Amino acid sequence: METLLKFKEARNFINGTFIDSDAPTMEVISPLDGRTISTIPLSGATDLDNAVEYAMAAYNDWSSTPIKERVQILFIYRNLLNKYRDELTELVHIENGKIFSEAEAEVDKAIELTEFACSLPQIVPGEFLEVSKGVECRIERIPLGVVASITPFNFPNMVPNWTIPIVIGLGNCMILKPSEKVPLTAARLALILKEAGLPDGVFNVINGSQEIVEAICDHPSIKAVSFVGSTRVAKIVYKRATSNLKRCLALGGAKNHLIVLPDAQTEMTASNIAASMTGCAGQRCMAASAMVAVGEIDHIINKLVEEAKKIIPGKNLGAVISKEAKERIENYVTQAEKEGAKVLLDGRNVKVSGYENGFYVGPTILDFVKPDMAIAKEEVFGPVLAIMRTDSLEKAMEIEKSSIYGNAASVFTQNGRAAKFVADNASAGMIGVNIGVPVPREPFSFGGMNESKFGSSDITGKSSIEFWTQIRKTTTKWSPESRINWMS
Ligand code: NAD
Repeated sequence: METLLKFKEARNFINGTFIDSDAPTMEVISPLDGRTISTIPLSGATDLDNAVEYAMAAYNDWSSTPIKERVQILFIYRNLLNKYRDELTELVHIENGKIFSEAEAEVDKAIELTEFACSLPQIVPGEFLEVSKGVECRIERIPLGVVASITPFNFPNMVPNWTIPIVIGLGNCMILKPSEKVPLTAARLALILKEAGLPDGVFNVINGSQEIVEAICDHPSIKAVSFVGSTRVAKIVYKRATSNLKRCLALGGAKNHLIVLPDAQTEMTASNIAASMTGCAGQRCMAASAMVAVGEIDHIINKLVEEAKKIIPGKNLGAVISKEAKERIENYVTQAEKEGAKVLLDGRNVKVSGYENGFYVGPTILDFVKPDMAIAKEEVFGPVLAIMRTDSLEKAMEIEKSSIYGNAASVFTQNGRAAKFVADNASAGMIGVNIGVPVPREPFSFGGMNESKFGSSDITGKSSIEFWTQIRKTTTKWSPESRINWMS
């Protein structure tokens, strides 16, 4: 609790210090118990101008610091994330509502992302060739300038760190706009970066919601914007930032299908699916949300329900982010039940003793869902699984491919040909074979397809290097004896 007092108000962090804003404030509520834990300013264009000005002032020195020196700060940052692991874990637990072990996993993932960025000098050397006698061409990746990263509530530590180490490691200066629902971790990360020795102005945090996001998309000096959040807002941000001629990568929502065949290994499949649908209270863009059962698999469904019953709100299942989210999730279940789905496990109206005002939804499994129901098509973002039945793998794939989203798809089977068929045909950027949450780990990149991602690169791994840099080509001739180039 002491930690929270330090961040009574999560202020903007500009040029190495927390500063006051004249903007109106908004309360930050802990999903664990519905208590107000902090406030944030709903910053506007003036706050952003200030931050961008300092970021631009820091840019010349930072971008001209050799990359091997820049990543020395990331090595220290990585060690500090490890040192403050418990404190950072608690912050995520309190502001997001996920259970301690999930919050801890997030911090560990942030460490892994930073380790990848520490290896940038080994990954980004340019190319060089003597293209004609005495004439040399070289290409190198250079930073973009001041860039911005806008993040969602569901991973207060990991998602900001999808961008922080890689963006600054590559020589950019940045503005982070964290979710207004989880601003505390971002504020703490700012201090940790400062402690690591990052020069003032290289990393700045601006709090707020719609108004500040629009100001970021419009700001003439911000060269690139990454966004992670819902598809509705991803579209707004992508259109607005690109119409202002900025580079933009916008990751959106998801509806991930798990295709389960009768030959799948029962225990492993059931426990994987239960973990995937309930992990982080189902608030993961990689969560299992729809299961397509191919043929006779009641034995797996029965085992799945048994496994899901072991997941208890407040114990090994965290809260969902808000009262509104709880209502939205429960409404999806009620509507599907009215339309004929069978509720095998009902997590509506749960109460956690001692946390009666928290926003909890228990594991919920619905069977005989029809592909045209809202619960089958829309992102529910809670610990809810909609099971649809089909009699062939081809029909299962039709359901998967009909989704507007395309983040992840998984198949559970012991048949290599069936697994290959799904991997080759699924309309998703990340495919799992006997894996419920197929997140690629560094150095492999993370990103979906269709309306789960707008823009060409991925947000992590080697692919993200392309997004956060531009390519400079230099042609050099020193020898006066060299022949004039044939193109001159
Ligand atoms: P959200 O879209 O509501 O908010 C994301 C960010 O956009 C926040 O910083 C918020 O302040 C800002 N924002 C909200 N409304 C806005 C508006 N009208 N105009 C401009 N900016 C606005 O998302 P969320 O609820 O914080 O996060 C959950 C969503 O994020 C889910 O849809 C989830 O699937 C998605 N997500 C996707 C990925 C991915 O990799 N594809 C990863 C994590 C989360």
